[in-house]
Amino acid sequence: MLNLILFGPPGAGKGTQSENLIRKFNLVHLSTGDLLRSEIKNGTALGLEAKRYMDEGVLVPDAVVISMIENKYNQNAEAGGFIFDGFPRTVAQAEALDAMLGKHAKPITCMIALEVPNDELLRRTLERQKIAGRADDNEETFRKRMVEYESKTRPVAEYYSAQEKFKSVQGVGEIDEIFAGICTAIDALKFKV
Ligand code: ADP
Repeated sequence: MLNLILFGPPGAGKGTQSENLIRKFNLVHLSTGDLLRSEIKNGTALGLEAKRYMDEGVLVPDAVVISMIENKYNQNAEAGGFIFDGFPRTVAQAEALDAMLGKHAKPITCMIALEVPNDELLRRTLERQKIAGRADDNEETFRKRMVEYESKTRPVAEYYSAQEKFKSVQGVGEIDEIFAGICTAIDALKFKV
């Protein structure tokens, strides 16, 4: 059982590395960003509400993302393991996640953070804008997302650090090299739970 959180600022490469991790460890992928974009695509009430926040580059309210994650988790509760991507993004979300997993006696194994300098994050975001066409991938919104990250999301690293479940990994370089760094970090932490 591996319950992994992939952590990092916008544009750190969480989505790319999640794909590698899912394949290697056979995990169910729970990405709040992807789930929210799918709600928007389907035109649901939740999607309509979330879109206003996402286009502004601010976090969607905790209650919305927590109940979305709980639903998806319960649909897959028998899975061998999970990768949480883009969640938790606030300490309140982390506490809700720990409470949910506690009920199933399947705690978080570790949180791996991808370290990428801010200028590289912006460069990647503008590159992604050309390919994916996401409304929030422009310089102005990117800067707001970074402010949200620094004020609300970074404290989540300290939350898991206090549980001795946190490790950061170099997020710049070849995709395979970064992946190797992530796997080494998981190996170092996975026997602690
Ligand atoms: P990135 O990793 O590039 O920031 P995401 O796809 O993870 O992109 O998130 C896009 C947007 O979706 C965020 O800016 C935020 O508005 C919303 N969002 C995603 N996950 C969460 C979350 N856990 N809590 C609150 N808002 C979220």
